[in-house]
Amino acid sequence: MTDTLAHLLADCRRELEAAGIDNSAMDARTLILGILQLTPTELVLKADRQIDEEGRTRVHAAIQRRKAREPVHRILGAREFYGLTLELSPDTLEPRPDTEVLVDALVEHGRRIGQMTERPRLLDLGTGTGAIALALLHELPDFSGLGIDISQGALETARRNADLNGIGERFETMCSDWFAQISGCFDIIVSNPPYIRSDVIGTLEPEVRDFDPLAALDGGPDGLEPYRIIARDADAFLNRNGVLAVEMGFDQKQSVDDIFSSRGYTVLQAVSDYGGNDRALVFKRKSD
Ligand code: GLN
Repeated sequence: MTDTLAHLLADCRRELEAAGIDNSAMDARTLILGILQLTPTELVLKADRQIDEEGRTRVHAAIQRRKAREPVHRILGAREFYGLTLELSPDTLEPRPDTEVLVDALVEHGRRIGQMTERPRLLDLGTGTGAIALALLHELPDFSGLGIDISQGALETARRNADLNGIGERFETMCSDWFAQISGCFDIIVSNPPYIRSDVIGTLEPEVRDFDPLAALDGGPDGLEPYRIIARDADAFLNRNGVLAVEMGFDQKQSVDDIFSSRGYTVLQAVSDYGGNDRALVFKRKSD
């Protein structure tokens, strides 16, 4: 039976590798660090430390979950996004690093808008963990924000994340089917809507298919339904000179552009993700 930290790490890596997990070394390391509450430095300096039975049991349980393809950060219950630590729940999409590029772009627009606007506000449609809204509010201290979601469970997680990251006072949540319950106007409207085609969902990797909530992935028969709703209804909620930004699939740029163009918007900025794929579009009104 494993006794030292170094042995535990090696055994976990081997066990994940044997189960066909791609990043077995990285995943074993991340799980052990998270579960035993160690820093990367401690992992090296305390390699000969004895790990007690209780610690080994907890690490072992996490390794079994990873073997069943549960993503590492779901097992740990939280992940980093744009420098914030966000709790996850079964009701929330796991925030992706690729979504950080959308935040990056909007921070720039938000600073510009903040200089011209008193008490600027942002709206995050389908806020999930609150990732986009909270990262923006963290970077844009003049802004306040509203995160809506159709899932009560997601809203509870978003609320907790706002409080955990010290943004609770500037962030409200509301249960709404897109714009249905919303009133008032916003300077930034942002969404990472569900954009996967319904018929493709079954082919996604198990980490996504079996653990991200379907409602956060399924964009309807062509994956574009949420964009049509947002493009149709956003006008009444967008302040003059405001921006509207959406994340999208790597092959949806032209379709999303067409949908918003036909409703009176024009592209202000196209954003690529870390892999060089088209990932988000920032629009403004043609008439602004
Ligand atoms: N980017 C996610 C994925 O491909 C999908 C997220 C979404 O539909 N908004 O797994």
